[in-house]
Amino acid sequence: MKSFVLPMPVRKTNRPEYFYLGKVFLAFFVPFCVVLFIFHFYIYGTKKEFIRHSLQKSERHEVTIFAESLEEHFDWLVSDLNFVAALYRNSQYQKTSSSRSCDDLTADLLAFSRESKIYDQIRFIDNSGVERIRINYNQGQPISVASQRLQDKKDRGYFKQVNKISLGQVYLSSFDLNVEHGEIEQPSKPTLRVAMPVLNAAKKPAGVIMLNYYGSHLLQHIREHQAQGFSADLGNLSLLNGDGYWLFTENREDEWGWMFADKKQLKFSTRYPEEWGNIAVGENGSFITANGLFTYTTVDPGGKQLVRGKGYPWKLVSRLPLNKADSMLGHERSLFIVIGFLLAGLSAALAGGGVYFFNRKRMYEDELRKLASTDSLTGLLNRRAFLERLLYEKSRFDRHGGSLVIVMADVDHFKLVNDQYGHDAGDHVLRRISRIMQTRMRMTDVLCRWGGEEFLLLLAGNEEVNGRCVAEKMRGMVEAEFFTFNGRDIPVTMSFGVAFFTKEMPVEQCIQLADQRLYYSKKNGRNRVTVTDQEEAGATGAE
Ligand code: GH3
Ligand code: MG
Ligand code: MG
Repeated sequence: MKSFVLPMPVRKTNRPEYFYLGKVFLAFFVPFCVVLFIFHFYIYGTKKEFIRHSLQKSERHEVTIFAESLEEHFDWLVSDLNFVAALYRNSQYQKTSSSRSCDDLTADLLAFSRESKIYDQIRFIDNSGVERIRINYNQGQPISVASQRLQDKKDRGYFKQVNKISLGQVYLSSFDLNVEHGEIEQPSKPTLRVAMPVLNAAKKPAGVIMLNYYGSHLLQHIREHQAQGFSADLGNLSLLNGDGYWLFTENREDEWGWMFADKKQLKFSTRYPEEWGNIAVGENGSFITANGLFTYTTVDPGGKQLVRGKGYPWKLVSRLPLNKADSMLGHERSLFIVIGFLLAGLSAALAGGGVYFFNRKRMYEDELRKLASTDSLTGLLNRRAFLERLLYEKSRFDRHGGSLVIVMADVDHFKLVNDQYGHDAGDHVLRRISRIMQTRMRMTDVLCRWGGEEFLLLLAGNEEVNGRCVAEKMRGMVEAEFFTFNGRDIPVTMSFGVAFFTKEMPVEQCIQLADQRLYYSKKNGRNRVTVTDQEEAGATGAE
Protein backbone atom coordinates (compact mmCIF):
# COMPACT_ATOMS: atom_id res chain seq x y z
CA MET A 1 0.00 0.00 0.00
CA LYS A 2 1.17 3.55 -0.77
CA SER A 3 2.06 5.60 2.28
CA PHE A 4 0.03 8.72 3.07
CA VAL A 5 0.15 11.76 5.33
CA LEU A 6 -2.86 12.72 7.39
CA PRO A 7 -4.05 16.31 6.66
CA MET A 8 -4.73 18.96 9.33
CA PRO A 9 -8.34 18.90 10.50
CA VAL A 10 -10.51 21.51 8.75
CA ARG A 11 -12.72 23.82 10.82
CA LYS A 12 -16.17 23.99 9.33
CA THR A 13 -18.49 27.00 9.47
CA ASN A 14 -22.26 26.70 9.45
CA ARG A 15 -22.92 30.40 8.76
CA PRO A 16 -25.15 30.91 5.75
CA GLU A 17 -23.85 32.56 2.60
CA TYR A 18 -25.95 35.71 2.85
CA PHE A 19 -24.53 36.41 6.30
CA TYR A 20 -21.07 36.60 4.81
CA LEU A 21 -22.21 38.63 1.80
CA GLY A 22 -24.17 40.99 4.08
CA LYS A 23 -21.03 41.57 6.08
CA VAL A 24 -19.03 42.28 2.94
CA PHE A 25 -21.73 44.67 1.74
CA LEU A 26 -21.70 46.59 5.02
CA ALA A 27 -17.92 46.59 5.10
CA PHE A 28 -18.01 48.53 1.83
CA PHE A 29 -21.23 50.47 2.23
CA VAL A 30 -20.68 51.96 5.69
CA PRO A 31 -17.20 53.49 5.03
CA PHE A 32 -18.26 54.71 1.59
CA CYS A 33 -21.38 56.29 3.04
CA VAL A 34 -19.54 57.83 5.97
CA VAL A 35 -16.80 59.35 3.82
CA LEU A 36 -19.17 60.59 1.13
CA PHE A 37 -21.60 62.04 3.64
CA ILE A 38 -18.93 63.75 5.68
CA PHE A 39 -17.72 65.34 2.46
CA HIS A 40 -21.29 66.13 1.46
CA PHE A 41 -22.16 67.83 4.74
CA TYR A 42 -18.89 69.72 4.73
CA ILE A 43 -19.80 71.16 1.33
CA TYR A 44 -23.34 71.86 2.54
CA GLY A 45 -22.08 73.64 5.66
CA THR A 46 -19.62 75.66 3.61
CA LYS A 47 -22.34 76.62 1.17
CA LYS A 48 -24.62 77.63 4.04
CA GLU A 49 -21.86 79.74 5.57
CA PHE A 50 -21.17 81.28 2.19
CA ILE A 51 -24.82 82.21 1.67
CA ARG A 52 -25.06 83.70 5.16
CA HIS A 53 -21.85 85.55 4.60
CA SER A 54 -22.95 87.01 1.27
CA LEU A 55 -26.32 87.90 2.83
CA GLN A 56 -24.50 89.72 5.59
CA LYS A 57 -22.40 91.53 3.05
CA SER A 58 -25.28 92.63 0.88
CA GLU A 59 -27.32 93.66 3.93
CA ARG A 60 -24.46 95.79 5.21
CA HIS A 61 -24.09 97.38 1.83
CA GLU A 62 -27.80 98.16 1.51
CA VAL A 63 -28.14 99.44 5.06
CA THR A 64 -25.12 101.72 4.68
CA ILE A 65 -26.25 103.16 1.36
CA PHE A 66 -29.71 103.73 2.70
CA ALA A 67 -28.50 105.39 5.87
CA GLU A 68 -26.48 107.79 3.74
CA SER A 69 -29.59 108.66 1.73
CA LEU A 70 -31.42 109.35 5.02
CA GLU A 71 -28.66 111.66 6.17
CA GLU A 72 -28.99 113.62 2.91
CA HIS A 73 -32.50 114.58 4.06
CA PHE A 74 -30.96 116.57 6.87
CA ASP A 75 -28.72 118.44 4.45
CA TRP A 76 -31.76 119.44 2.43
CA LEU A 77 -33.56 120.58 5.56
CA VAL A 78 -30.66 122.78 6.63
CA SER A 79 -30.29 124.24 3.16
CA ASP A 80 -34.06 125.01 3.00
CA LEU A 81 -33.84 126.61 6.42
CA ASN A 82 -30.96 128.79 5.25
CA PHE A 83 -33.03 129.75 2.23
CA VAL A 84 -36.02 130.80 4.34
CA ALA A 85 -33.70 132.74 6.69
CA ALA A 86 -32.30 134.50 3.64
CA LEU A 87 -35.86 135.42 2.57
CA TYR A 88 -36.33 136.97 6.03
CA ARG A 89 -33.01 138.82 5.90
CA ASN A 90 -33.78 140.28 2.49
CA SER A 91 -37.30 141.33 3.45
CA GLN A 92 -38.50 144.71 4.67
CA TYR A 93 -39.99 142.86 7.60
CA GLN A 94 -36.54 142.51 9.12
CA LYS A 95 -36.37 146.30 9.28
CA THR A 96 -39.86 147.57 9.92
CA SER A 97 -42.12 144.78 11.15
CA SER A 98 -44.92 146.68 9.45
CA SER A 99 -47.99 144.78 8.40
CA ARG A 100 -47.23 145.45 4.76
CA SER A 101 -43.71 144.05 5.00
CA CYS A 102 -45.15 141.17 6.98
CA ASP A 103 -47.58 140.45 4.13
CA ASP A 104 -44.72 140.53 1.61
CA LEU A 105 -42.66 138.02 3.54
CA THR A 106 -45.77 135.91 4.12
CA ALA A 107 -46.41 135.84 0.37
CA ASP A 108 -42.84 134.62 -0.26
CA LEU A 109 -43.20 131.93 2.41
CA LEU A 110 -46.56 130.84 1.00
CA ALA A 111 -44.89 130.39 -2.37
CA PHE A 112 -42.04 128.44 -0.80
CA SER A 113 -44.48 126.22 1.08
CA ARG A 114 -46.46 125.50 -2.08
CA GLU A 115 -43.35 124.60 -4.08
CA SER A 116 -41.40 122.65 -1.51
CA LYS A 117 -44.46 120.56 -0.45
CA ILE A 118 -42.64 119.03 2.49
CA TYR A 119 -43.17 121.54 5.29
CA ASP A 120 -46.26 121.34 7.41
CA GLN A 121 -45.48 124.68 8.99
CA ILE A 122 -43.14 127.52 8.20
CA ARG A 123 -42.92 129.98 11.03
CA PHE A 124 -41.27 133.08 12.29
CA ILE A 125 -41.47 133.13 16.08
CA ASP A 126 -40.37 136.28 17.87
CA ASN A 127 -38.05 136.49 20.81
CA SER A 128 -40.89 136.18 23.31
CA GLY A 129 -42.05 132.87 21.83
CA VAL A 130 -45.08 134.21 20.00
CA GLU A 131 -45.72 133.13 16.42
CA ARG A 132 -45.61 136.17 14.11
CA ILE A 133 -45.90 134.44 10.78
CA ARG A 134 -47.20 130.93 10.36
CA ILE A 135 -47.79 129.20 7.04
CA ASN A 136 -49.75 125.94 7.27
CA TYR A 137 -49.28 123.65 4.28
CA ASN A 138 -52.95 122.75 4.47
CA GLN A 139 -52.72 119.78 2.15
CA GLY A 140 -51.26 121.64 -0.79
CA GLN A 141 -53.30 124.85 -0.30
CA PRO A 142 -50.95 126.81 1.96
CA ILE A 143 -52.57 129.40 4.18
CA SER A 144 -51.22 132.07 6.36
CA VAL A 145 -52.71 131.73 9.85
CA ALA A 146 -54.61 134.83 10.90
CA SER A 147 -52.83 136.91 13.55
CA GLN A 148 -55.50 136.29 16.22
CA ARG A 149 -54.97 132.54 15.87
CA LEU A 150 -51.21 132.64 16.17
CA GLN A 151 -50.01 130.84 19.30
CA ASP A 152 -47.59 131.51 22.09
CA LYS A 153 -44.97 128.75 22.02
CA LYS A 154 -42.67 130.04 24.70
CA ASP A 155 -43.38 127.04 26.95
CA ARG A 156 -42.75 124.42 24.30
CA GLY A 157 -39.55 122.51 24.80
CA TYR A 158 -38.30 123.09 21.29
CA PHE A 159 -38.64 126.87 21.60
CA LYS A 160 -36.68 126.83 24.84
CA GLN A 161 -33.98 124.78 23.15
CA VAL A 162 -33.78 127.01 20.06
CA ASN A 163 -33.60 130.08 22.23
CA LYS A 164 -30.41 128.77 23.75
CA ILE A 165 -28.48 128.31 20.53
CA SER A 166 -26.26 130.95 19.08
CA LEU A 167 -26.36 132.74 15.78
CA GLY A 168 -25.25 130.57 12.85
CA GLN A 169 -26.29 127.35 14.52
CA VAL A 170 -29.20 125.19 13.46
CA TYR A 171 -31.48 123.42 15.83
CA LEU A 172 -32.75 119.98 14.89
CA SER A 173 -35.59 118.78 17.08
CA SER A 174 -36.15 115.21 18.10
CA PHE A 175 -38.33 113.29 15.69
CA ASP A 176 -41.81 112.90 17.16
CA LEU A 177 -45.52 113.23 16.48
CA ASN A 178 -46.78 116.77 16.23
CA VAL A 179 -48.62 118.10 19.27
CA GLU A 180 -51.22 120.83 18.96
CA HIS A 181 -52.85 122.38 22.00
CA GLY A 182 -51.30 119.69 24.21
CA GLU A 183 -52.75 116.75 22.21
CA ILE A 184 -51.08 114.48 19.67
CA GLU A 185 -52.49 115.68 16.39
CA GLN A 186 -54.74 113.18 14.59
CA PRO A 187 -54.08 111.65 12.16
CA SER A 188 -50.64 111.51 13.60
CA LYS A 189 -48.06 113.71 12.00
CA PRO A 190 -44.43 112.63 12.41
CA THR A 191 -42.53 115.86 12.61
CA LEU A 192 -38.98 117.11 12.55
CA ARG A 193 -38.39 120.76 13.33
CA VAL A 194 -35.40 122.72 12.15
CA ALA A 195 -34.90 126.22 13.39
CA MET A 196 -32.33 128.98 13.47
CA PRO A 197 -32.15 132.37 15.19
CA VAL A 198 -32.31 135.49 13.06
CA LEU A 199 -31.37 139.10 13.74
CA ASN A 200 -33.31 142.23 13.00
CA ALA A 201 -31.89 145.08 10.97
CA ALA A 202 -30.34 146.49 14.16
CA LYS A 203 -28.40 143.17 14.54
CA LYS A 204 -30.37 142.32 17.63
CA PRO A 205 -31.95 138.87 18.05
CA ALA A 206 -35.38 139.05 16.39
CA GLY A 207 -36.60 135.51 16.90
CA VAL A 208 -36.34 132.19 15.10
CA ILE A 209 -37.25 130.77 11.72
CA MET A 210 -38.69 127.31 12.14
CA LEU A 211 -39.65 124.69 9.56
CA ASN A 212 -41.84 121.73 10.54
CA TYR A 213 -40.80 118.98 8.20
CA TYR A 214 -43.34 116.31 7.31
CA GLY A 215 -41.49 113.31 8.76
CA SER A 216 -43.83 111.01 6.90
CA HIS A 217 -41.85 111.89 3.75
CA LEU A 218 -38.76 110.43 5.30
CA LEU A 219 -40.68 107.39 6.57
CA GLN A 220 -42.34 106.97 3.19
CA HIS A 221 -38.88 106.97 1.68
CA ILE A 222 -37.98 103.97 3.84
CA ARG A 223 -41.29 102.25 3.13
CA GLU A 224 -40.84 102.62 -0.61
CA HIS A 225 -37.28 101.47 -0.44
CA GLN A 226 -38.32 98.38 1.43
CA ALA A 227 -41.20 97.75 -0.97
CA GLN A 228 -38.99 98.29 -4.00
CA GLY A 229 -37.17 95.11 -3.25
CA PHE A 230 -34.43 96.25 -0.97
CA SER A 231 -35.71 93.56 1.30
CA ALA A 232 -37.37 91.21 -1.14
CA ASP A 233 -34.77 88.72 -0.09
CA LEU A 234 -33.43 90.65 2.81
CA GLY A 235 -34.47 91.72 6.26
CA ASN A 236 -37.10 94.02 7.69
CA LEU A 237 -35.93 97.55 8.26
CA SER A 238 -36.37 99.42 11.50
CA LEU A 239 -35.40 103.00 12.20
CA LEU A 240 -34.74 103.50 15.90
CA ASN A 241 -34.12 106.62 17.89
CA GLY A 242 -31.27 106.81 20.37
CA ASP A 243 -33.47 105.43 23.17
CA GLY A 244 -34.28 102.31 21.19
CA TYR A 245 -37.84 103.29 20.24
CA TRP A 246 -39.13 102.57 16.76
CA LEU A 247 -39.53 105.58 14.45
CA PHE A 248 -40.24 103.18 11.66
CA THR A 249 -40.90 99.47 11.59
CA GLU A 250 -43.01 96.99 9.73
CA ASN A 251 -45.73 96.92 12.34
CA ARG A 252 -46.80 100.54 12.68
CA GLU A 253 -48.42 99.85 16.04
CA ASP A 254 -44.91 99.53 17.46
CA GLU A 255 -43.85 103.03 16.42
CA TRP A 256 -43.57 106.15 18.63
CA GLY A 257 -43.82 104.11 21.84
CA TRP A 258 -42.56 106.88 24.14
CA MET A 259 -45.29 109.29 23.07
CA PHE A 260 -48.10 107.14 24.45
CA ALA A 261 -48.55 106.40 28.13
CA ASP A 262 -49.58 102.78 27.44
CA LYS A 263 -46.75 102.06 25.01
CA LYS A 264 -43.73 103.15 26.95
CA GLN A 265 -42.36 99.56 27.04
CA LEU A 266 -42.87 99.11 23.32
CA LYS A 267 -39.36 99.49 22.03
CA PHE A 268 -36.71 97.58 20.18
CA SER A 269 -34.41 97.66 23.16
CA THR A 270 -37.04 95.85 25.26
CA ARG A 271 -37.94 93.30 22.62
CA TYR A 272 -34.35 92.57 21.61
CA PRO A 273 -32.30 93.58 24.66
CA GLU A 274 -29.26 91.46 23.74
CA GLU A 275 -29.19 92.81 20.20
CA TRP A 276 -29.75 96.37 21.36
CA GLY A 277 -26.74 95.96 23.65
CA ASN A 278 -24.63 95.49 20.52
CA ILE A 279 -26.34 98.04 18.34
CA ALA A 280 -26.40 100.86 20.89
CA VAL A 281 -22.63 100.86 21.35
CA GLY A 282 -21.50 100.05 17.79
CA GLU A 283 -21.17 102.37 14.83
CA ASN A 284 -22.24 99.68 12.41
CA GLY A 285 -22.00 95.93 12.03
CA SER A 286 -23.88 92.70 11.69
CA PHE A 287 -24.33 89.68 13.90
CA ILE A 288 -26.45 86.60 14.23
CA THR A 289 -28.56 85.71 17.25
CA ALA A 290 -31.46 83.31 17.76
CA ASN A 291 -33.72 86.14 16.53
CA GLY A 292 -32.02 86.42 13.18
CA LEU A 293 -29.33 88.14 11.25
CA PHE A 294 -29.08 91.78 12.41
CA THR A 295 -27.36 94.42 10.35
CA TYR A 296 -27.23 97.97 11.55
CA THR A 297 -25.65 101.32 11.01
CA THR A 298 -25.81 104.68 12.72
CA VAL A 299 -27.71 107.58 11.19
CA ASP A 300 -25.99 110.54 12.71
CA PRO A 301 -27.03 113.92 11.30
CA GLY A 302 -24.28 116.27 12.25
CA GLY A 303 -22.02 119.09 11.28
CA LYS A 304 -20.73 121.96 13.37
CA GLN A 305 -23.89 123.99 12.78
CA LEU A 306 -26.26 121.41 14.19
CA VAL A 307 -27.59 121.43 17.75
CA ARG A 308 -29.79 118.40 18.20
CA GLY A 309 -32.73 117.63 20.42
CA LYS A 310 -33.14 114.31 22.19
CA GLY A 311 -33.06 110.87 20.59
CA TYR A 312 -29.98 111.07 18.37
CA PRO A 313 -28.17 109.38 16.78
CA TRP A 314 -30.61 107.02 15.15
CA LYS A 315 -29.98 103.44 14.24
CA LEU A 316 -31.06 101.84 11.01
CA VAL A 317 -31.46 98.12 11.63
CA SER A 318 -32.30 95.29 9.31
CA ARG A 319 -33.44 92.03 10.84
CA LEU A 320 -33.52 88.90 8.73
CA PRO A 321 -35.10 85.95 10.55
CA LEU A 322 -32.82 82.92 10.30
CA ASN A 323 -35.47 80.74 8.73
CA LYS A 324 -35.76 83.35 5.99
CA ALA A 325 -31.99 83.41 5.59
CA ASP A 326 -31.93 79.65 5.47
CA SER A 327 -34.88 79.54 3.12
CA MET A 328 -32.51 81.09 0.60
CA LEU A 329 -30.81 77.74 0.83
CA GLY A 330 -34.17 76.22 -0.13
CA HIS A 331 -33.45 74.99 -3.63
CA GLU A 332 -29.85 74.33 -2.66
CA ARG A 333 -31.12 72.15 0.16
CA SER A 334 -33.31 70.01 -2.11
CA LEU A 335 -30.35 69.72 -4.45
CA PHE A 336 -28.21 68.58 -1.54
CA ILE A 337 -30.86 66.05 -0.48
CA VAL A 338 -31.00 64.67 -4.04
CA ILE A 339 -27.20 64.52 -4.13
CA GLY A 340 -27.31 62.81 -0.71
CA PHE A 341 -29.58 60.11 -2.13
CA LEU A 342 -27.37 59.79 -5.19
CA LEU A 343 -24.35 59.38 -2.94
CA ALA A 344 -26.17 56.73 -0.90
CA GLY A 345 -27.02 55.01 -4.21
CA LEU A 346 -23.41 55.34 -5.32
CA SER A 347 -22.24 53.86 -2.02
CA ALA A 348 -24.70 50.98 -2.45
CA ALA A 349 -23.50 50.45 -6.04
CA LEU A 350 -19.85 50.49 -4.94
CA ALA A 351 -20.66 48.15 -2.09
CA GLY A 352 -22.62 45.95 -4.53
CA GLY A 353 -19.54 45.91 -6.79
CA GLY A 354 -17.46 44.93 -3.78
CA VAL A 355 -19.87 42.13 -2.92
CA TYR A 356 -19.85 40.93 -6.53
CA PHE A 357 -16.07 40.97 -6.59
CA PHE A 358 -15.80 39.12 -3.29
CA ASN A 359 -18.44 36.63 -4.27
CA ARG A 360 -16.64 35.92 -7.52
CA LYS A 361 -13.41 35.50 -5.61
CA ARG A 362 -15.11 33.18 -3.17
CA MET A 363 -16.70 31.14 -5.93
CA TYR A 364 -13.35 30.94 -7.63
CA GLU A 365 -11.75 29.80 -4.39
CA ASP A 366 -14.53 27.26 -3.88
CA GLU A 367 -13.95 26.00 -7.38
CA LEU A 368 -10.23 25.73 -6.71
CA ARG A 369 -10.90 23.97 -3.44
CA LYS A 370 -13.25 21.59 -5.20
CA LEU A 371 -10.69 20.93 -7.92
CA ALA A 372 -8.06 20.38 -5.27
CA SER A 373 -10.26 17.94 -3.41
CA THR A 374 -11.67 15.87 -6.28
CA ASP A 375 -10.31 13.40 -8.75
CA SER A 376 -10.60 14.68 -12.29
CA LEU A 377 -11.37 11.32 -13.92
CA THR A 378 -14.17 10.10 -11.70
CA GLY A 379 -15.27 13.26 -9.88
CA LEU A 380 -14.87 11.38 -6.57
CA LEU A 381 -13.01 12.86 -3.62
CA ASN A 382 -9.28 12.49 -3.87
CA ARG A 383 -7.09 10.96 -1.23
CA ARG A 384 -6.39 14.22 0.64
CA ALA A 385 -10.03 15.29 0.87
CA PHE A 386 -11.06 11.79 1.85
CA LEU A 387 -8.56 11.72 4.68
CA GLU A 388 -9.86 15.07 5.93
CA ARG A 389 -13.34 13.66 6.00
CA LEU A 390 -12.14 10.45 7.56
CA LEU A 391 -10.50 12.35 10.44
CA TYR A 392 -13.70 14.26 10.99
CA GLU A 393 -15.82 11.10 11.03
CA LYS A 394 -13.25 9.39 13.27
CA SER A 395 -13.46 12.14 15.86
CA ARG A 396 -17.24 11.92 15.75
CA PHE A 397 -17.01 8.16 16.14
CA ASP A 398 -14.65 8.52 19.10
CA ARG A 399 -17.02 10.95 20.79
CA HIS A 400 -20.43 9.51 19.94
CA GLY A 401 -19.74 5.87 19.05
CA GLY A 402 -21.81 4.10 16.37
CA SER A 403 -19.82 2.39 13.69
CA LEU A 404 -17.18 3.37 11.19
CA VAL A 405 -16.04 1.00 8.49
CA ILE A 406 -13.32 1.19 5.83
CA VAL A 407 -13.79 -0.74 2.59
CA MET A 408 -10.87 -0.89 0.20
CA ALA A 409 -11.66 -2.02 -3.35
CA ASP A 410 -9.36 -2.82 -6.26
CA VAL A 411 -10.15 -3.75 -9.86
CA ASP A 412 -8.95 -7.23 -10.72
CA HIS A 413 -6.34 -7.56 -13.42
CA PHE A 414 -6.84 -4.03 -14.50
CA LYS A 415 -3.52 -3.98 -16.21
CA LEU A 416 -4.97 -6.52 -18.63
CA VAL A 417 -7.94 -4.25 -19.35
CA ASN A 418 -5.55 -1.50 -20.38
CA ASP A 419 -3.45 -3.87 -22.35
CA GLN A 420 -6.31 -5.56 -24.21
CA TYR A 421 -8.80 -2.69 -24.70
CA GLY A 422 -6.69 0.38 -24.44
CA HIS A 423 -6.14 3.07 -21.83
CA ASP A 424 -9.33 4.89 -22.72
CA ALA A 425 -11.31 1.75 -22.12
CA GLY A 426 -9.56 1.51 -18.74
CA ASP A 427 -10.63 5.07 -17.91
CA HIS A 428 -14.18 4.30 -18.99
CA VAL A 429 -14.25 1.28 -16.69
CA LEU A 430 -13.00 3.38 -13.75
CA ARG A 431 -15.72 6.00 -14.32
CA ARG A 432 -18.44 3.35 -14.55
CA ILE A 433 -17.23 1.63 -11.42
CA SER A 434 -17.30 4.88 -9.48
CA ARG A 435 -20.94 5.45 -10.56
CA ILE A 436 -21.93 1.87 -9.64
CA MET A 437 -20.35 2.12 -6.23
CA GLN A 438 -22.07 5.47 -5.58
CA THR A 439 -25.48 3.90 -6.19
CA ARG A 440 -24.97 1.64 -3.18
CA MET A 441 -23.96 4.45 -0.85
CA ARG A 442 -25.97 6.35 1.76
CA MET A 443 -25.74 10.08 2.34
CA THR A 444 -23.31 9.62 5.18
CA ASP A 445 -20.96 7.34 3.23
CA VAL A 446 -17.88 8.72 1.50
CA LEU A 447 -16.15 7.27 -1.53
CA CYS A 448 -12.77 8.26 -2.89
CA ARG A 449 -10.37 7.26 -5.57
CA TRP A 450 -7.50 6.14 -3.43
CA GLY A 451 -5.16 5.87 -6.40
CA GLY A 452 -4.89 4.00 -9.75
CA GLU A 453 -7.73 1.46 -9.83
CA GLU A 454 -8.16 1.45 -6.05
CA PHE A 455 -11.19 2.93 -4.25
CA LEU A 456 -11.70 3.57 -0.57
CA LEU A 457 -15.16 3.66 0.91
CA LEU A 458 -16.01 5.02 4.36
CA LEU A 459 -19.24 3.78 5.89
CA ALA A 460 -20.39 5.80 8.88
CA GLY A 461 -23.50 5.30 10.99
CA ASN A 462 -24.96 5.63 14.44
CA GLU A 463 -25.91 1.95 14.43
CA GLU A 464 -23.96 -1.10 13.39
CA VAL A 465 -23.03 -1.01 9.72
CA ASN A 466 -22.88 -4.24 7.80
CA GLY A 467 -19.67 -3.65 5.89
CA ARG A 468 -19.65 -7.06 4.36
CA CYS A 469 -23.14 -6.66 2.97
CA VAL A 470 -22.32 -3.32 1.34
CA ALA A 471 -19.08 -4.63 -0.13
CA GLU A 472 -20.77 -7.79 -1.36
CA LYS A 473 -23.49 -5.83 -3.08
CA MET A 474 -20.92 -3.64 -4.79
CA ARG A 475 -18.88 -6.62 -5.83
CA GLY A 476 -21.99 -8.34 -7.24
CA MET A 477 -23.06 -5.22 -9.14
CA VAL A 478 -19.64 -4.78 -10.75
CA GLU A 479 -19.56 -8.45 -11.66
CA ALA A 480 -23.05 -8.27 -13.13
CA GLU A 481 -22.43 -5.04 -15.03
CA PHE A 482 -21.84 -5.17 -18.77
CA PHE A 483 -18.88 -2.95 -19.45
CA THR A 484 -18.63 -2.12 -23.14
CA PHE A 485 -16.25 0.23 -24.89
CA ASN A 486 -16.11 0.77 -28.65
CA GLY A 487 -18.54 -2.11 -29.07
CA ARG A 488 -16.40 -4.54 -27.13
CA ASP A 489 -17.47 -6.18 -23.88
CA ILE A 490 -15.01 -5.93 -21.03
CA PRO A 491 -15.31 -8.40 -18.17
CA VAL A 492 -14.62 -6.63 -14.87
CA THR A 493 -14.56 -7.83 -11.30
CA MET A 494 -13.35 -6.24 -8.07
CA SER A 495 -11.87 -7.46 -4.83
CA PHE A 496 -12.68 -5.91 -1.44
CA GLY A 497 -11.12 -5.71 1.99
CA VAL A 498 -13.29 -4.54 4.92
CA ALA A 499 -12.02 -3.23 8.30
CA PHE A 500 -14.01 -1.94 11.29
CA PHE A 501 -12.75 0.91 13.44
CA THR A 502 -12.45 0.38 17.13
CA LYS A 503 -12.10 3.32 19.48
CA GLU A 504 -8.43 3.02 20.07
CA MET A 505 -7.59 2.24 16.48
CA PRO A 506 -5.65 4.93 14.61
CA VAL A 507 -6.84 5.84 11.11
CA GLU A 508 -3.66 4.50 9.47
CA GLN A 509 -4.07 1.18 11.17
CA CYS A 510 -7.63 0.67 10.00
CA ILE A 511 -6.72 1.52 6.40
CA GLN A 512 -3.82 -0.87 6.56
CA LEU A 513 -6.13 -3.54 7.87
CA ALA A 514 -8.57 -3.02 4.97
CA ASP A 515 -5.64 -3.06 2.55
CA GLN A 516 -4.36 -6.27 4.07
CA ARG A 517 -7.78 -7.92 3.74
CA LEU A 518 -8.01 -6.74 0.14
CA TYR A 519 -4.68 -8.40 -0.38
CA TYR A 520 -6.15 -11.61 0.99
CA SER A 521 -9.15 -11.32 -1.36
CA LYS A 522 -6.65 -11.18 -4.18
CA LYS A 523 -4.75 -14.09 -2.77
CA ASN A 524 -7.93 -16.10 -2.37
CA GLY A 525 -8.84 -15.79 -6.06
CA ARG A 526 -10.09 -12.20 -6.50
CA ASN A 527 -13.73 -11.10 -7.08
CA ARG A 528 -14.41 -11.55 -3.37
CA VAL A 529 -14.79 -9.78 -0.05
CA THR A 530 -12.56 -10.41 2.98
CA VAL A 531 -13.85 -9.14 6.34
CA THR A 532 -12.35 -11.27 9.08
CA ASP A 533 -9.02 -12.74 10.04
CA GLN A 534 -10.47 -16.24 9.62
CA GLU A 535 -11.04 -15.50 5.96
CA GLU A 536 -7.50 -14.19 5.78
CA ALA A 537 -6.34 -17.46 7.24
CA GLY A 538 -8.16 -19.25 4.42
CA ALA A 539 -5.97 -17.56 1.88
CA THR A 540 -3.90 -19.99 -0.03
CA GLY A 541 -1.19 -17.58 -0.89
CA ALA A 542 -1.69 -18.41 -4.60
CA GLU A 543 -3.55 -16.32 -7.18
P1 GH3 B 1 -4.50 -7.07 -9.47
O1 GH3 B 1 -5.67 -7.87 -9.81
O2 GH3 B 1 -3.52 -7.76 -8.70
O3 GH3 B 1 -4.90 -5.78 -8.83
O4 GH3 B 1 -3.85 -6.77 -10.85
P2 GH3 B 1 -3.83 -5.41 -11.59
O5 GH3 B 1 -3.42 -5.56 -12.97
O6 GH3 B 1 -5.15 -4.73 -11.39
O7 GH3 B 1 -2.80 -4.59 -10.77
P3 GH3 B 1 -1.52 -3.79 -11.23
O8 GH3 B 1 -1.11 -2.97 -10.04
O9 GH3 B 1 -0.54 -4.73 -11.74
O10 GH3 B 1 -1.96 -2.88 -12.38
C1 GH3 B 1 -2.72 -1.70 -12.16
C2 GH3 B 1 -2.87 -0.97 -13.44
O11 GH3 B 1 -3.79 0.10 -13.42
C3 GH3 B 1 -1.56 -0.40 -13.92
C4 GH3 B 1 -1.92 0.97 -14.48
O12 GH3 B 1 -1.53 1.12 -15.81
C5 GH3 B 1 -3.41 1.00 -14.41
N1 GH3 B 1 -3.88 2.28 -14.12
C6 GH3 B 1 -3.63 3.02 -13.02
N2 GH3 B 1 -4.30 4.23 -13.08
C7 GH3 B 1 -4.97 4.22 -14.27
C8 GH3 B 1 -5.82 5.14 -14.90
O13 GH3 B 1 -6.09 6.25 -14.41
N3 GH3 B 1 -6.36 4.81 -16.09
C9 GH3 B 1 -6.09 3.64 -16.71
N4 GH3 B 1 -6.63 3.37 -17.85
N5 GH3 B 1 -5.27 2.77 -16.11
C10 GH3 B 1 -4.73 3.01 -14.93
MG1 MG C 1 -4.07 -2.03 -7.50
MG1 MG D 1 -5.92 -4.23 -9.49
